[in-house]
Amino acid sequence: MADQSRAIPRDRTVVRRQSRHHLGSDIVQRLALFDLDNTLIDLDAAFQVWAEEFTEEHRLGQQAVDYMIKLDRNGLPHRELFFAKVREQFKLSTSAANLWAAYRRRMPHLVECRPEVMAALAELRALGWRVGIITNGTADNQLGKIQQTGLGDAVDGYALSGIEGIRKPDTGLFEIAAKRCGTDLAEGGWMVGDHPVADVGGGHSAGLCTVWIGRGAWTGHERPPDHVVTDVMHAMDILRTVGE
Ligand SMILES: [Mg+2]
Repeated sequence: MADQSRAIPRDRTVVRRQSRHHLGSDIVQRLALFDLDNTLIDLDAAFQVWAEEFTEEHRLGQQAVDYMIKLDRNGLPHRELFFAKVREQFKLSTSAANLWAAYRRRMPHLVECRPEVMAALAELRALGWRVGIITNGTADNQLGKIQQTGLGDAVDGYALSGIEGIRKPDTGLFEIAAKRCGTDLAEGGWMVGDHPVADVGGGHSAGLCTVWIGRGAWTGHERPPDHVVTDVMHAMDILRTVGE
């Protein structure tokens, strides 16, 4: 993270100056759109619990947990392909489609939104921010997660690719999310997320300032995020600061 610190300053003074530079005005529309998975909720932690349950259910052994976590993090986040591979690897009789469907039914019960994140969302809204969720994924899984965690009631609106038929980084999904929050995307705002293309690239294309929740160094995409943090709580700090 040291390299990122040098490349993209994070102290509050700089935050404020940068935000003015990007917005060209001291007046910021207080719209904050958040990605869901590994932004508002820790999907990786829930995935680990799911992998352990799945391994036990199918009597696969600890190596299977490691295999699935590696597969998830290193290139097969798309569940349809993921389950085809898992089925083949462990010679499972259940179809990949059914394994995936079971996963979507289970995951909403395994994810959590930390209380401090819920509190920070409430605080932003109390400060006059409109807060939304914008997420790619199947409707049942993403909606289930939003409802089970209580996030559905903690935000002004949300836009799910599986429902709208349009995915980040497409600006169309950002427009829908902004509208659901009672705002106009043309007035700008902020996008917070962990995906370089879907969240940061998409956010910039939509005319938003961006906060990237990074797991490593930012690597060479067209325009770097306006701010880099390692946890969504730090993004909340930035928003509160620029909204003052
Ligand atoms: Mg994400």
